[in-house]
Amino acid sequence: MSEVPVIGHYLHGRLNTEAERHVPVFNPATGQPQAQVALASVQTVEAAIASAKKAFPAWSEQSALRRARILFKFKELLDQHQDELATLICREHGKVFSDARGEVTRGIEIVEFACGAPSLLQTSFSDNIGGGIDNWNLRQPLGVCAGVTPFNFPVMVPLWMIPMALVTGNCFVLKPSERDPSASLLMARLLTEAGLPDGVFNVVQGDKTAVDALLQHPDVEAISFVGSTPIAEYIHQQASARGKRVQALGGAKNHMIVMPDADLDQAADALMGAAFGSAGERCMAISIAVAVGEVGDRLIEKLLPRIDRLKVGNGLEAASEMGPLVTAEHKAKVEGFIAEGVAQGAQLLVDGRGLKVPGHEQGFFVGATLFDGVSTEMSIYRQEIFGPVLGIIRVPDFATAVELINAHEFGNGVSCFTSDGGIARAFARTIKVGMVGINVPIPVPMAWHSFGGWKRSLFGDHHAYGEEGLRFYSRYKSVMQRWPDSIAKGAEFSMPTAK
Ligand code: NAD
Repeated sequence: MSEVPVIGHYLHGRLNTEAERHVPVFNPATGQPQAQVALASVQTVEAAIASAKKAFPAWSEQSALRRARILFKFKELLDQHQDELATLICREHGKVFSDARGEVTRGIEIVEFACGAPSLLQTSFSDNIGGGIDNWNLRQPLGVCAGVTPFNFPVMVPLWMIPMALVTGNCFVLKPSERDPSASLLMARLLTEAGLPDGVFNVVQGDKTAVDALLQHPDVEAISFVGSTPIAEYIHQQASARGKRVQALGGAKNHMIVMPDADLDQAADALMGAAFGSAGERCMAISIAVAVGEVGDRLIEKLLPRIDRLKVGNGLEAASEMGPLVTAEHKAKVEGFIAEGVAQGAQLLVDGRGLKVPGHEQGFFVGATLFDGVSTEMSIYRQEIFGPVLGIIRVPDFATAVELINAHEFGNGVSCFTSDGGIARAFARTIKVGMVGINVPIPVPMAWHSFGGWKRSLFGDHHAYGEEGLRFYSRYKSVMQRWPDSIAKGAEFSMPTAK
């Protein structure tokens, strides 16, 4: 029997495959296990934290410019290895190659943003606030920070955290998803190649044991989490209870309003990409189209032929537009939702269950699925499916559409297709959702804006990356100073005020 490759950890600048427990990593397109990933023990996590703690004093004392230069080199290496990273994503996640490349590009953009650290970390200075006294601010690193990331963006989501944490002077321990762990190791190797000192960045592969060890360790100052809502809530609660800084981004149920005045071809194209791109395994995927007025039937007419033409296959084959789901369990879960939708009375217009892709009969494929007649009490409306399932809900007017979306427990992304500027403006101002698109189906903010949802899509005070990311990864300090020649003689007992 041939040896199964083991995907291990990255500790203090070196690969490490020690582990007592392993789980298989599958190729979702073939349905076959292709490697084993090591699951870190508490001791392995402690070793990673100790390595980061040891590296912290020297790293945090480097100038922001020197840190940015290493990140700039990292960016160049990411550019050079973009196809390699995208191939790793396709093999373990299943998404199509062009989509995986896009993911890597969006991650690289965060690194580019972080390279501006010397000016981004500048703070305000008030000269001579009174009597020879100046007041200014510092943004200082926190110490050892940890990140726990989901399977659906194995490069982009870690890159929401890593460059921001490192450039602000922190050391970092990443716990990637155990379902697609390989890309994290390539990024770790590239960081070392870029000149990052050993220990500043470590990777521990693992499951709940590793995450709990990070949460419980007193030397971990901050945790960034991205994943499903129940785990996000747990992370937020556990980290907060221990006085750690935490941002925990959770699940989603994203709506797209289609107004009667929208360009329906554009809206249908947008829905195809947003609902079925990456097999719906995106936290910004649109899973509900809110058809306003009489638009529902016309929208369905546009969608049906497009769904019929959608090419489902192995993500590494050029013709594929949609790949498989990540695991057999997830495929079963998505198919279970489709069955529930039927049982609860939604009208199944296209059924993606039972799809067989020739040559990939064991792959975890589910075809594009379309429901009409969805209503708010159905589980396919209330819960995140995270698969290629689009539901249409019909409402009489714009106000009802907004009310419906605002009542949903999630508030990650939302979109409105319309040609009416007044509607668009009212939508942007009144919708209770963190990321809003107007004729843009997936409004993922650029690197210098910040990413995050509202309601049960985010637990914590800061959104990810951009300005908010800089704030999350730095501690704000105010300094007030004067020198003896300006100090008045005699003690003062009243509250100091500007003079
Ligand atoms: P998940 O919650 O199952 O796993 C996320 C991470 O948590 C993984 O690293 C996993 O190992 C770890 N984990 C799993 N169970 C745990 C437990 N009991 N205790 C501690 N840690 C645990 O999520 P997933 O299936 O990998 O990713 C999909 C989910 O992530 C979806 O809900 C999606 O909406 C969400 N997501 C959200 C965003 C966002 O920005 N809001 C972005 C991407 C993905």
